[in-house]
Amino acid sequence: MSTVVAETTPQADQPARTTLREGAFGHARALACRECGHEVALGPHYACPECFGPLEVAYDFPAVTREEVEAGPANIWRYKALLPVPTDIEQSPNTEPGYTRLLKAHNLGRELGIANLWVKDDSTNPTNSFKDRVVACALSAARELHAKVFACPSTGNLANAVAAAGARAGIKTVVFIPSNLEKPKQVNSAVYTNNLVAVEGNYDDVNKLASEIAGEEEGWAFVNVNVRPFYAEGSKTLGYEIAEQLGWRLPDQIVIPVASGSQLTKVDKAFQELIKLGLVEDKPYKVFGAQATGCSPVSVAYKDGVDVIRPVKPDTIAKSLAIGNPADGIYVLDICRRTGGAVEDISDDEVRDGILLLARTEGIFTETAGGTTVGVLKKLVETGQLDPELETVVINTGMGLKTLDAVADHVGAAATIAPNYPAFVAAGIL
Ligand SMILES: *Cc1c(COP(=O)(O)O)cnc(C)c1O
Ligand SMILES: [Zn+2]
Repeated sequence: MSTVVAETTPQADQPARTTLREGAFGHARALACRECGHEVALGPHYACPECFGPLEVAYDFPAVTREEVEAGPANIWRYKALLPVPTDIEQSPNTEPGYTRLLKAHNLGRELGIANLWVKDDSTNPTNSFKDRVVACALSAARELHAKVFACPSTGNLANAVAAAGARAGIKTVVFIPSNLEKPKQVNSAVYTNNLVAVEGNYDDVNKLASEIAGEEEGWAFVNVNVRPFYAEGSKTLGYEIAEQLGWRLPDQIVIPVASGSQLTKVDKAFQELIKLGLVEDKPYKVFGAQATGCSPVSVAYKDGVDVIRPVKPDTIAKSLAIGNPADGIYVLDICRRTGGAVEDISDDEVRDGILLLARTEGIFTETAGGTTVGVLKKLVETGQLDPELETVVINTGMGLKTLDAVADHVGAAATIAPNYPAFVAAGIL
């Protein structure tokens, strides 16, 4: 199952296997099962040997102060003490994602009737999605585990981030995508790597293939498969940054897109850690999940009041969210219910409207995932599920230039005219 070398005891008939260096994973203590709490040693493992539950990184955190964080670099490594990375992580080449802007969204707030609204804009990361955060953490783990190949199954953005980070780190990359993926996302990977593999199938098929390869091949680090616990921790930095940028406070409500559900669960984990470390005041906050109706297994389970996720075959323009069998779906349900939030979904037309709404109110061109999140925010207000009087953060996870086709037929030139003044006047633009 896990094939990256991590054992510390040499086998008699094999060359000595490479040992983990001291502090390879920072203050991480072990991998702990989210279901039963069973702990295994840090390594390329993702499923609990006792109950097959997902493994998560567990820590013995040192005391961390706001001042220490604030003195750090303007990227995710300012939180390195809270991540499974070595203390000298800044020395290793990576794409240095994070510390993206948190914008006060006055216009969008006015449009939606939300008094106090913020957009966390992750489209400005190095490959224009939040995936650069998770990949930077996975890359560190892959290095410490001496992986030969850095790989992923992807709905697009992850492949972009893996290919770019691998190029900069000088490690071989192989990225797998569904063959029907948007052209810009394919090109955005292929410029960084010769090994873009288009698979005839949907994301869930691509993911299955990746697990098979991980089981057969030695030395492959699949960022979201066998080093997934380390990868997932990268999403915590979104939560840390939002709290720090609000002046070391948690928001009252937060709306987050859901594909596998990893990001949403880790933003919640980040908020909980900040409370435990005394870096923010303990207070209630509501977490909301956003899906497109054409791939809404978590939203359907939420509305049905059940806690099993029934897998679906995705059919939506929000391809970066098109995971029909979301690994962390049940934890999304739990968090959204427990915090008093909700999971909601919208049609592809509403996704498109969400893209245009954000563009025309805040000057931010988001991809279909962001259109989904903004559209769901609108629906949550309209249906009374989100309180417009409470401070609210919405996360924009990606960049509109990667999904141009979603809106290309819906916007365009208001007029095509001859290059003279009368022609301009005749066009009626004034
Ligand atoms: C991958 C992705 C998500 C969702 O990520 P999960 O952690 O799998 O839920 C959201 N937005 C964009 C743009 C993505 O690429
Ligand atoms: Zn377990």
